[in-house]
Amino acid sequence: MAAVQTEKVDDLLGHTIDTISVVKLRQIFKTICKVCPEAKKHAEELLLADTKDAKPGPRVNEDGQEDKDALAKEESTKRPVPRYAFCGNCEKEFDVTTNTSTSCLYHTMADEPDECLYEDNPTCPSDPDSMEAREQYPEFFTFKCCGRNREEDEPCTVGWHQELNEEKQPYWKRARVGYGAAYV
Ligand SMILES: [Zn+2]
Ligand SMILES: [Zn+2]
Repeated sequence: MAAVQTEKVDDLLGHTIDTISVVKLRQIFKTICKVCPEAKKHAEELLLADTKDAKPGPRVNEDGQEDKDALAKEESTKRPVPRYAFCGNCEKEFDVTTNTSTSCLYHTMADEPDECLYEDNPTCPSDPDSMEAREQYPEFFTFKCCGRNREEDEPCTVGWHQELNEEKQPYWKRARVGYGAAYV
């Protein structure tokens, strides 16, 4: 293929990767890993980590106390784990190998729509307690923990990213986790 032609195809391929649906992209990625051992090796290096390299943060037992035994047990196994996980605190994707006690910025309590949301915005979606309304009017949603709103970018609490465990999420987060872009 001539150089100009190759450049054009590269541009087109880049554009297609940027605009194709994530579902289709995942299918294609799996196929590439299946047919090309080199690509599979790269994918493993980029997407998996040894348990000993993963830093999941402190484990908490049922009484809310730090559970050092549980963490030591997890670390003693060498099997690979997914390198990227979804944090239940900040609702973002994070790299488990670079997680530290200051990696995560989050709020400890739910945000609620302010009473003036409707009065000031009559065109607000019919369900004010929705992600759609949050995205459209972030300044009208206040977190109960600190009184900051969604538009103020610094959440009030710093800590470890904690891998999402749907069952352990407080009720007010269970419904909302997954709104973010991480699962898209
Ligand atoms: Zn807060
Ligand atoms: Zn986090």
